Amino acid sequence: MKVKGFLIVLSGPSGSGKNTLISRVLPRIPNLKYSVSATTRAPRSGEVDGVHYFFVSDHQFDQMIAKNEFLEWAEFVGNRYGTPRPFVEKQIQQGHTVIMDVDIQGAVQIKRLMSDVVLVFLLPPTLDELRNRLKKRGQDATEAIAKRLEHSSEELEYIVDYDYYIVNDDLDRAAERLVSIINAERCRVARADLSAIQQLWQRRQN
Ligand code: ADP
Ligand code: 5GP
Repeated sequence: MKVKGFLIVLSGPSGSGKNTLISRVLPRIPNLKYSVSATTRAPRSGEVDGVHYFFVSDHQFDQMIAKNEFLEWAEFVGNRYGTPRPFVEKQIQQGHTVIMDVDIQGAVQIKRLMSDVVLVFLLPPTLDELRNRLKKRGQDATEAIAKRLEHSSEELEYIVDYDYYIVNDDLDRAAERLVSIINAERCRVARADLSAIQQLWQRRQN
């Protein structure tokens, strides 16, 4: 059954498991596409340009802003991050669901542009566990980890603006919850192609 394209925004403190969860869920849902962001942050080891992010210079990021190439963009603990507009618009036009990992400032901007966006907030089980995961990931300097942890308490206040929350205690359970949210959102009558439903109905009657 055809469904109108829409956006799922996943936010949550750095280290809560957004990327891990998205990579678990992507292969499980047909026509679910990941929007790769642009960032001025340096790549972490193992991160691939064009796969995890488009890594750009400050100058390139400025140019992208000037050319209105971002759906939204924001500064997050000293680096800039933005969602390239053409990919998202094309996928939505094609009836796909686009999932993106965007901070709370980005989520607010997208909600203003697209009121039917689905906002999901990912929570670590505890702050101590968040600290452990950031340390275990071993990709950020001690100072960067401290900044990210400090920022996460402020972020939590914005959970009230979100539609759903998922506690990422056990990864399989968290993935199951995200899959359920996406599948339920695809069943909304408001997202259905009503002419396709009518055709299906007529075909069954004949
Ligand atoms: P984010 O994208 O939110 O910054 P990551 O996906 O990079 O977070 O996850 C941060 C770290 O936590 C990674 O090392 C990842 O393997 C680990 N992690 C993610 N989810 C879980 C989980 N449910 N249990 C234990 N470790 C997890
Ligand atoms: P990280 O440096 O850990 O990959 O990401 C830091 C923060 O930037 C996370 O909160 C993540 O959700 C956010 N982020 C990643 N891409 C984008 C984007 O395109 N736009 C905005 N606004 N935030 C983003």
